[in-house]
Amino acid sequence: MTKQWADQVALVTGGARGIGRATVQRFVAQGAAVAINYSASPEKAAALADEIRAAGGRAIAVGADVADAAAVNAMVSRTEAELGPISILVNNAGIGWPATLETWEPAGYARLRAVNVDAMIHTIRAVMGGMKARGFGRVVNISSVAGHGNTGFVGNHFYAATKAEVNILTRRFAIELGPHGITVNAVAPGLTRSDMTQGKRSDAEWQALVASFSKLAIMGRVGEPEEIANAVAFLAAPEAGFITAQVLTVDGGRTDYIGHG
Ligand code: NAP
Repeated sequence: MTKQWADQVALVTGGARGIGRATVQRFVAQGAAVAINYSASPEKAAALADEIRAAGGRAIAVGADVADAAAVNAMVSRTEAELGPISILVNNAGIGWPATLETWEPAGYARLRAVNVDAMIHTIRAVMGGMKARGFGRVVNISSVAGHGNTGFVGNHFYAATKAEVNILTRRFAIELGPHGITVNAVAPGLTRSDMTQGKRSDAEWQALVASFSKLAIMGRVGEPEEIANAVAFLAAPEAGFITAQVLTVDGGRTDYIGHG
């Protein structure tokens, strides 16, 4: 692959695992320098950064709970000091929260919103001054098909609501930042293999989930993290400057509105 992104510096939140990790690797393959944010996975982030540097790439591991605005500001300052001005921000960090109306409680809900929604506000606010000054930026937020409002996975209500908020804020932030040369888009994955989906399930439970979701998708399968990363890279590319305020669904045709016969 041609290394076209040698002048790009990317910050990927939750970059040590899953979709974030695949995104980091995709950006590095393009030649970008990448800050790999982590919260609970310092060893994985450090190992990935070491691996990238050993192969001749540029990467650092940067810790921050993205729900904490001060920690996010410190992370951005450190990234810019060590790698240079951030031109690409990927808000990938996210958590699930299996709750229903019966089990809802305020602390869990507040934490869900803090990580899935507030963090995106903190990170964009932290990088936008520099992006505005340079007249260039790419922001990609990781949403979910759950945020489209036409899926019904049990116990996913409040997670879906946070992702709907991600979609709306993506479009609204695009309006605010577009005049400064900054695009803001989202990628909405369907079920994708990662710790979030596979991690806490037995092999049998995972195979059953894959079988049931595969039946719903035109492509007849679930997604791989690299396939989500490809869509993120498309929207983060320097050439994507005329695409903004979009939510790109990457779900193998599960939420296609066509119907499935
Ligand atoms: P994952 O494997 O569980 O990874 C989640 C990532 O988020 C980890 O790197 C984790 O980092 C990070 N993270 C969580 N809380 C954080 C915090 N407070 N501060 C910093 N980082 C934090 O899940 P994934 O599937 O790759 O999910 C990535 C994104 O895709 C999420 O936004 C998720 O909602 C979205 N998504 C996933 C699917 C799917 O089917 N997998 C579908 C639709 C949308 P640490 O380990 O360092 O804490």
